[in-house]
Amino acid sequence: MLPGPSKPKVTDSRLARPYCACTSSRLPMPWQLQLQELELATDCACGEEDAIGEWTWQEPEGNVQNSLEFSKNDTQVTFHPTYSSGTATVRGDCPFHKDHHHYFEIKMLTDTYGTDIMVGVGTDKVNIAESRYKFTSLLGEDDQSYGLSYRGMVRHGAGLAHESAGFCRGSIVGVRVDLWHGTLDLNGISFFNLRRHQQLYPMVSSTAAQSKIRLIYAASWRASLLVDAAKILAASTTADNAMQKKSKESEMEFDKAEISESLIIRNQADCI
Ligand SMILES: [Zn+2]
Repeated sequence: MLPGPSKPKVTDSRLARPYCACTSSRLPMPWQLQLQELELATDCACGEEDAIGEWTWQEPEGNVQNSLEFSKNDTQVTFHPTYSSGTATVRGDCPFHKDHHHYFEIKMLTDTYGTDIMVGVGTDKVNIAESRYKFTSLLGEDDQSYGLSYRGMVRHGAGLAHESAGFCRGSIVGVRVDLWHGTLDLNGISFFNLRRHQQLYPMVSSTAAQSKIRLIYAASWRASLLVDAAKILAASTTADNAMQKKSKESEMEFDKAEISESLIIRNQADCI
Protein backbone atom coordinates (compact mmCIF):
# COMPACT_ATOMS: atom_id res chain seq x y z
CA MET A 1 0.00 0.00 0.00
CA LEU A 2 1.35 3.36 -0.99
CA PRO A 3 1.82 5.90 1.76
CA GLY A 4 -0.60 8.81 1.70
CA PRO A 5 0.48 12.34 1.05
CA SER A 6 2.63 13.66 3.84
CA LYS A 7 1.24 16.37 6.02
CA PRO A 8 2.56 19.73 4.84
CA LYS A 9 4.90 21.40 7.28
CA VAL A 10 3.93 24.79 8.63
CA THR A 11 6.78 26.78 7.18
CA ASP A 12 5.02 29.29 5.02
CA SER A 13 5.70 32.91 5.95
CA ARG A 14 2.24 33.74 4.61
CA LEU A 15 0.91 32.04 7.75
CA ALA A 16 2.75 34.49 9.99
CA ARG A 17 0.50 36.73 12.02
CA PRO A 18 0.77 40.07 13.75
CA TYR A 19 0.52 39.99 17.52
CA CYS A 20 -1.99 42.75 17.98
CA ALA A 21 -4.97 44.30 16.26
CA CYS A 22 -3.08 47.59 16.18
CA THR A 23 -1.60 46.49 12.85
CA SER A 24 -4.73 44.99 11.37
CA SER A 25 -5.96 48.07 9.59
CA ARG A 26 -4.51 50.58 7.20
CA LEU A 27 -4.87 53.36 9.74
CA PRO A 28 -1.66 55.17 10.66
CA MET A 29 0.70 52.64 12.14
CA PRO A 30 1.35 52.76 15.89
CA TRP A 31 4.88 54.07 15.56
CA GLN A 32 3.43 57.16 13.91
CA LEU A 33 1.39 57.93 17.02
CA GLN A 34 2.32 59.03 20.49
CA LEU A 35 1.94 56.26 23.03
CA GLN A 36 -1.07 57.90 24.67
CA GLU A 37 -2.80 58.22 21.30
CA LEU A 38 -1.89 54.63 20.58
CA GLU A 39 -3.60 53.40 23.72
CA LEU A 40 -6.72 55.43 23.00
CA ALA A 41 -6.89 54.72 19.30
CA THR A 42 -6.15 51.05 19.09
CA ASP A 43 -6.28 49.43 22.50
CA CYS A 44 -2.84 48.12 21.67
CA ALA A 45 -1.74 45.05 23.60
CA CYS A 46 1.87 44.97 22.43
CA GLY A 47 3.10 46.17 25.81
CA GLU A 48 5.31 48.90 24.46
CA GLU A 49 4.32 51.24 27.27
CA ASP A 50 6.54 49.15 29.55
CA ALA A 51 9.51 50.77 27.83
CA ILE A 52 12.07 48.43 29.38
CA GLY A 53 15.25 48.71 27.39
CA GLU A 54 18.68 47.89 28.78
CA TRP A 55 20.34 48.44 25.44
CA THR A 56 19.72 50.02 22.04
CA TRP A 57 20.94 49.52 18.48
CA GLN A 58 24.27 50.61 17.12
CA GLU A 59 25.61 50.73 13.62
CA PRO A 60 28.42 48.17 13.46
CA GLU A 61 31.78 49.03 12.00
CA GLY A 62 32.04 48.31 8.32
CA ASN A 63 28.41 49.01 7.54
CA VAL A 64 27.53 51.56 4.93
CA GLN A 65 26.46 54.87 6.37
CA ASN A 66 23.18 55.16 4.52
CA SER A 67 21.92 51.59 4.84
CA LEU A 68 20.56 52.11 8.36
CA GLU A 69 18.51 54.91 9.82
CA PHE A 70 17.97 55.15 13.56
CA SER A 71 15.09 56.78 15.43
CA LYS A 72 13.15 56.60 18.70
CA ASN A 73 16.30 56.86 20.82
CA ASP A 74 18.02 54.24 18.69
CA THR A 75 15.42 51.56 19.38
CA GLN A 76 13.90 51.79 15.90
CA VAL A 77 15.81 50.99 12.73
CA THR A 78 14.92 51.47 9.08
CA PHE A 79 16.99 49.27 6.78
CA HIS A 80 17.88 50.67 3.37
CA PRO A 81 15.88 53.91 3.74
CA THR A 82 16.16 54.72 0.02
CA TYR A 83 17.00 51.57 -1.92
CA SER A 84 18.63 48.24 -1.15
CA SER A 85 21.91 47.03 -2.59
CA GLY A 86 22.55 44.13 -0.24
CA THR A 87 22.25 43.12 3.40
CA ALA A 88 22.22 45.71 6.17
CA THR A 89 22.80 44.49 9.71
CA VAL A 90 22.29 46.19 13.01
CA ARG A 91 23.78 45.09 16.31
CA GLY A 92 23.08 45.79 19.97
CA ASP A 93 25.27 48.48 21.49
CA CYS A 94 26.72 46.05 24.03
CA PRO A 95 27.29 42.30 24.20
CA PHE A 96 25.17 40.07 26.42
CA HIS A 97 26.50 39.86 29.96
CA LYS A 98 28.14 36.61 30.94
CA ASP A 99 26.21 34.43 33.38
CA HIS A 100 22.99 36.35 32.80
CA HIS A 101 19.63 35.47 31.34
CA HIS A 102 18.59 37.81 28.55
CA TYR A 103 15.31 38.36 26.79
CA PHE A 104 14.47 40.85 24.06
CA GLU A 105 11.58 41.45 21.70
CA ILE A 106 11.55 42.86 18.19
CA LYS A 107 8.41 44.21 16.59
CA MET A 108 8.23 44.02 12.81
CA LEU A 109 6.78 47.33 11.67
CA THR A 110 6.61 46.90 7.91
CA ASP A 111 5.66 44.20 5.46
CA THR A 112 8.21 41.41 5.08
CA TYR A 113 9.52 40.58 1.63
CA GLY A 114 12.69 40.00 -0.31
CA THR A 115 15.65 37.72 0.20
CA ASP A 116 15.51 37.83 3.98
CA ILE A 117 14.84 39.69 7.18
CA MET A 118 16.36 37.93 10.18
CA VAL A 119 16.35 38.30 13.95
CA GLY A 120 18.96 36.59 16.09
CA VAL A 121 22.31 36.81 17.81
CA GLY A 122 25.90 36.73 16.65
CA THR A 123 29.50 37.36 17.62
CA ASP A 124 31.70 40.27 16.59
CA LYS A 125 33.12 37.97 13.90
CA VAL A 126 29.95 37.99 11.81
CA ASN A 127 31.02 39.34 8.46
CA ILE A 128 28.74 42.31 8.22
CA ALA A 129 30.91 44.37 5.88
CA GLU A 130 31.30 41.60 3.32
CA SER A 131 27.56 41.03 3.06
CA ARG A 132 26.60 44.63 2.51
CA TYR A 133 26.60 44.23 -1.27
CA LYS A 134 25.15 40.73 -1.23
CA PHE A 135 21.51 39.76 -0.82
CA THR A 136 21.85 37.04 1.74
CA SER A 137 20.37 35.37 4.83
CA LEU A 138 23.25 36.55 6.96
CA LEU A 139 22.42 35.30 10.44
CA GLY A 140 23.28 31.63 10.72
CA GLU A 141 25.40 31.69 7.59
CA ASP A 142 28.26 30.24 9.64
CA ASP A 143 28.90 29.14 13.22
CA GLN A 144 29.27 32.73 14.45
CA SER A 145 25.57 33.56 14.38
CA TYR A 146 22.04 32.24 14.83
CA GLY A 147 19.02 33.65 13.05
CA LEU A 148 15.29 33.34 12.52
CA SER A 149 14.05 34.27 9.03
CA TYR A 150 10.70 35.91 8.39
CA ARG A 151 10.05 32.86 6.24
CA GLY A 152 10.17 30.64 9.34
CA MET A 153 13.61 29.09 8.92
CA VAL A 154 16.09 29.01 11.76
CA ARG A 155 19.74 29.02 10.71
CA HIS A 156 23.07 28.28 12.34
CA GLY A 157 26.32 27.05 10.82
CA ALA A 158 24.71 27.19 7.36
CA GLY A 159 22.22 24.56 8.50
CA LEU A 160 18.48 25.12 8.17
CA ALA A 161 15.51 24.13 10.25
CA HIS A 162 11.96 24.90 9.12
CA GLU A 163 9.82 25.02 12.16
CA SER A 164 7.50 27.99 12.21
CA ALA A 165 5.29 30.33 10.27
CA GLY A 166 7.92 33.05 10.53
CA PHE A 167 6.92 36.63 11.13
CA CYS A 168 5.24 39.45 9.29
CA ARG A 169 4.25 43.08 9.77
CA GLY A 170 2.98 43.37 13.32
CA SER A 171 4.60 40.17 14.66
CA ILE A 172 6.65 40.35 17.83
CA VAL A 173 9.72 38.10 17.88
CA GLY A 174 11.20 37.20 21.25
CA VAL A 175 14.74 35.90 21.72
CA ARG A 176 15.87 34.21 24.92
CA VAL A 177 19.54 33.81 25.70
CA ASP A 178 20.76 32.04 28.83
CA LEU A 179 24.48 32.60 29.20
CA TRP A 180 24.58 30.73 32.49
CA HIS A 181 23.67 27.43 30.84
CA GLY A 182 24.79 28.57 27.39
CA THR A 183 21.49 28.14 25.60
CA LEU A 184 19.51 30.10 23.05
CA ASP A 185 15.82 29.71 22.34
CA LEU A 186 14.89 30.99 18.91
CA ASN A 187 11.31 30.41 17.94
CA GLY A 188 11.14 27.18 19.92
CA ILE A 189 14.41 25.80 18.58
CA SER A 190 17.12 25.47 21.18
CA PHE A 191 20.83 25.82 20.70
CA PHE A 192 23.47 24.85 23.22
CA ASN A 193 27.10 25.52 24.01
CA LEU A 194 26.86 29.25 23.46
CA ARG A 195 29.38 29.87 26.22
CA ARG A 196 32.08 28.99 23.70
CA HIS A 197 31.57 32.45 22.17
CA GLN A 198 33.61 35.20 23.75
CA GLN A 199 30.93 37.79 23.07
CA LEU A 200 27.43 37.64 21.66
CA TYR A 201 25.27 40.51 20.46
CA PRO A 202 21.63 40.84 19.50
CA MET A 203 21.38 41.28 15.73
CA VAL A 204 18.86 41.96 12.98
CA SER A 205 19.66 41.82 9.27
CA SER A 206 17.56 42.82 6.28
CA THR A 207 17.79 42.98 2.52
CA ALA A 208 14.41 44.69 2.12
CA ALA A 209 14.28 48.37 1.22
CA GLN A 210 12.47 50.54 3.78
CA SER A 211 11.95 47.63 6.16
CA LYS A 212 11.58 48.76 9.75
CA ILE A 213 11.86 47.10 13.15
CA ARG A 214 11.68 48.31 16.72
CA LEU A 215 13.22 46.94 19.89
CA ILE A 216 10.28 46.98 22.33
CA TYR A 217 11.78 45.10 25.27
CA ALA A 218 15.29 44.26 26.43
CA ALA A 219 16.08 42.95 29.89
CA SER A 220 18.51 40.68 31.70
CA TRP A 221 18.71 38.90 35.01
CA ARG A 222 21.77 37.60 36.79
CA ALA A 223 21.59 33.82 37.05
CA SER A 224 20.38 32.78 40.47
CA LEU A 225 18.26 30.21 42.25
CA LEU A 226 15.51 32.81 42.35
CA VAL A 227 15.44 33.08 38.55
CA ASP A 228 15.49 29.28 38.21
CA ALA A 229 12.61 29.02 40.67
CA ALA A 230 10.67 31.68 38.76
CA LYS A 231 11.15 29.76 35.50
CA ILE A 232 9.86 26.54 37.05
CA LEU A 233 6.93 28.36 38.58
CA ALA A 234 6.18 30.07 35.28
CA ALA A 235 6.25 26.78 33.39
CA SER A 236 3.69 25.29 35.75
CA THR A 237 1.59 28.44 35.61
CA THR A 238 1.71 28.40 31.82
CA ALA A 239 0.33 24.88 31.89
CA ASP A 240 -2.44 25.98 34.23
CA ASN A 241 -3.26 28.78 31.87
CA ALA A 242 -4.31 26.31 29.23
CA MET A 243 -7.30 25.62 31.44
CA GLN A 244 -8.00 29.05 32.84
CA LYS A 245 -8.01 32.38 31.18
CA LYS A 246 -5.71 34.87 32.79
CA SER A 247 -5.78 38.60 32.48
CA LYS A 248 -4.07 40.32 29.61
CA GLU A 249 -1.78 42.19 31.98
CA SER A 250 -0.48 39.08 33.68
CA GLU A 251 -0.05 37.41 30.30
CA MET A 252 2.19 40.24 29.22
CA GLU A 253 4.18 39.91 32.40
CA PHE A 254 4.76 36.24 31.80
CA ASP A 255 5.84 36.81 28.24
CA LYS A 256 8.18 39.56 29.19
CA ALA A 257 9.63 37.97 32.29
CA GLU A 258 11.26 35.40 30.04
CA ILE A 259 9.09 32.72 31.50
CA SER A 260 6.80 31.73 28.68
CA GLU A 261 7.59 28.38 27.18
CA SER A 262 8.83 27.66 23.70
CA LEU A 263 6.35 29.67 21.65
CA ILE A 264 8.44 32.74 21.07
CA ILE A 265 6.66 34.59 18.30
CA ARG A 266 3.59 36.13 19.82
CA ASN A 267 0.85 35.82 17.24
CA GLN A 268 -2.78 36.61 17.79
CA ALA A 269 -4.50 38.49 15.02
CA ASP A 270 -4.81 37.46 11.40
CA CYS A 271 -2.18 38.70 9.00
CA ILE A 272 -3.05 41.60 6.80
ZN1 LIG B 1 -0.31 46.57 19.40
